[in-house]
Amino acid sequence: MLDIATRDEISPASEAPAAPSGPRPLRDPFGRTITYLRLSVTDRCDLRCTYCMPERMRFLPKRDLLSLEELEAVADAFIRRGVRRLRITGGEPLVRPGLPGLIARLSRHLGSGALDEITLTTNATQLDRHAEALAAAGVRRINVSLDSLNPETYRRVTRGGDLFRALSGIAAAKAAGIAVKLNAVALKHDNAEDLPELVEWAHAEGHAVTLIEVMPTAETGEDRRSQFLPLLAVREALEDRFTLTPLAARTGGPARYVRVEETGGTLGFITPLTENFCAGCNRVRVTCTGKLALCLGQEEGADLRPALRGGRPGPALDRALDDALLRKPERHGFEEAQAEGRAAVGRHMNVTGG
Ligand code: SAM
Ligand code: SF4
Repeated sequence: MLDIATRDEISPASEAPAAPSGPRPLRDPFGRTITYLRLSVTDRCDLRCTYCMPERMRFLPKRDLLSLEELEAVADAFIRRGVRRLRITGGEPLVRPGLPGLIARLSRHLGSGALDEITLTTNATQLDRHAEALAAAGVRRINVSLDSLNPETYRRVTRGGDLFRALSGIAAAKAAGIAVKLNAVALKHDNAEDLPELVEWAHAEGHAVTLIEVMPTAETGEDRRSQFLPLLAVREALEDRFTLTPLAARTGGPARYVRVEETGGTLGFITPLTENFCAGCNRVRVTCTGKLALCLGQEEGADLRPALRGGRPGPALDRALDDALLRKPERHGFEEAQAEGRAAVGRHMNVTGG
């Protein structure tokens, strides 16, 4: 599926050859075009969410992390190849020193029109210090992970986090003019009861919410099957309280949306376990160590580091991306892994980048 002109497409000799009309797109063998990159800038985090990492997470040696220059070179390479949306993630991206500067440098691609947006996924604990710098660097929207408004539940799920730090970060983002979408992972024994209140509060504050089914990524010391709560059950419980009107609009991602009539706000559902969405996949991830992760729920990938270290990363990275894309899996394997009671992948979410 490489984008090479066939003989029939080549201009007749008498005409000037047509100029290339844009970047050579990144396509996989299933006809999907990659226009979205999630770039993990660190595996480190100040929380230890029970679905993401073990309580005693061993972080990678600092020397294994991509430098800020390497992260920029990776983003540049993807943007040259047609990526239009860039999401910075982690670990907790705001614990990476120099992150606002990296985003400010990457925002030249917003100015040139090569990129539609740079966004961030964050737990918001450091956001009150960084919100203004992020807004100044061109960040217009962020996703904040917030699973409950109950301080005890929040503390238990994050293994020690302070809800009020996250709330103050969210308020700072709002004050800086950054739109906030909340992401909550539905957990059967932790936050199931709290989700209606979370939706109501978020919509009153002007934030959209997306609920996510917990995925069996690498072991965290918790029993995934007992954590798992199908979103159909959550939706039914929400319908006891709210009128949910399905929306046709999609954002190009896996979420399906409804409008909550009583609040006027938008609610998304991401259902990796109960309703597969891989046919429309438009994304890949690069881990904080420079590994291309072709699918969140499969091991296939490629190490981009050798191409980054060569003298001219452009052509080498291009070749590495083309080679790797040929191996993008058709779909994740979360359902099978869950049924067998094992992790689908060996990578923790904080390394891959959610
Ligand atoms: N630290 C940031 C945060 O929490 O927003 C960014 C990184 S975190 C790995 C990205 C997203 O992955 C978060 O929204 C988190 O809730 C989600 N996540 C982590 N582990 C997950 C799992 N096993 N299943 C579903 N979502 C998960
Ligand atoms: Fe940290 Fe985000 Fe993972 Fe929670 S989900 S432990 S905040 S990286």
